[in-house]
Amino acid sequence: MAENRVALITGAGRGIGAKIALTLASENIDIAVVDYGEESAAAETMSALAAAGVKAKYYRCDVSDFTATKAVVDAVVKEFGKIDILVNNAGITADNLILRMEEADWDRVLNINLKGCFNMIKHVTPYMMRKRYGRIVSISSVVGLMGNAGQANYAASKAGIVGLTKTVAKEFGARNITANAVAPGFIKTAMTDALTEEQKKEMYKLIPLGCLGETDDIANAVKFLTSDAARYITGVVLKVDGGMYI
Ligand code: NAP
Repeated sequence: MAENRVALITGAGRGIGAKIALTLASENIDIAVVDYGEESAAAETMSALAAAGVKAKYYRCDVSDFTATKAVVDAVVKEFGKIDILVNNAGITADNLILRMEEADWDRVLNINLKGCFNMIKHVTPYMMRKRYGRIVSISSVVGLMGNAGQANYAASKAGIVGLTKTVAKEFGARNITANAVAPGFIKTAMTDALTEEQKKEMYKLIPLGCLGETDDIANAVKFLTSDAARYITGVVLKVDGGMYI
């Protein structure tokens, strides 16, 4: 029997990242969950991964910390033997119009959303190069492609992921490492659950398919991009947005 592949997924304790972890686990992929909070906050995800019958371990780490991400990547390789798949999913928002945006909110969002991806890619790719195999997927956003009033920091970080992804695709293609981005539109999560019916109705008008996406829609895109079926796909930004940005 072929040995399981290993995926390191950031921000996998909850939300979209947790769904990505469970979806890859259903493909017999072992999972290193890297997240910011206490392990107890990810207890539900960790027990679902155990129930899926794969090896799974939780690592607490702030993805914006260069030194800490190196230590985590080394620890994951020590424990699992390798990293075949990296999913950069951790992300935050700190919204405000530029006129009111504090410097600290700009820095925090860029450091976690964009530098966090650089940190993980920087530390994971030497291991992937040695194996001459790697699948990197980073979660961007349609907001990074279309802009959004009140989200200058977030949109810039998500647009940055697009440039980073295309560059990684070019630098590492010869080593059989692919790099792609997924750009979700509005996805049903705790964040969008908090919107009023009126706000949701306004949102639906922007989406040709007329509804919010599910975390499954994003997880399935990641599953595809990390599968053998996508072996010849690199440097793309796959929009999963119900047609919101065409
Ligand atoms: P979420 O529910 O807020 O989850 C974000 C995850 O990232 C949490 O597990 C969080 O950990 C973790 N995280 C935050 N800061 C971190 C840090 N410094 N280091 C490590 N982990 C950190 O968000 P989501 O809705 O699932 O979104 C996941 C990704 O999709 C994000 O990159 C987001 O920008 C993107 N996205 C989402 C939507 C949407 O509609 N939801 C649309 C477009 C793009 P804690 O739980 O410990 O805080």
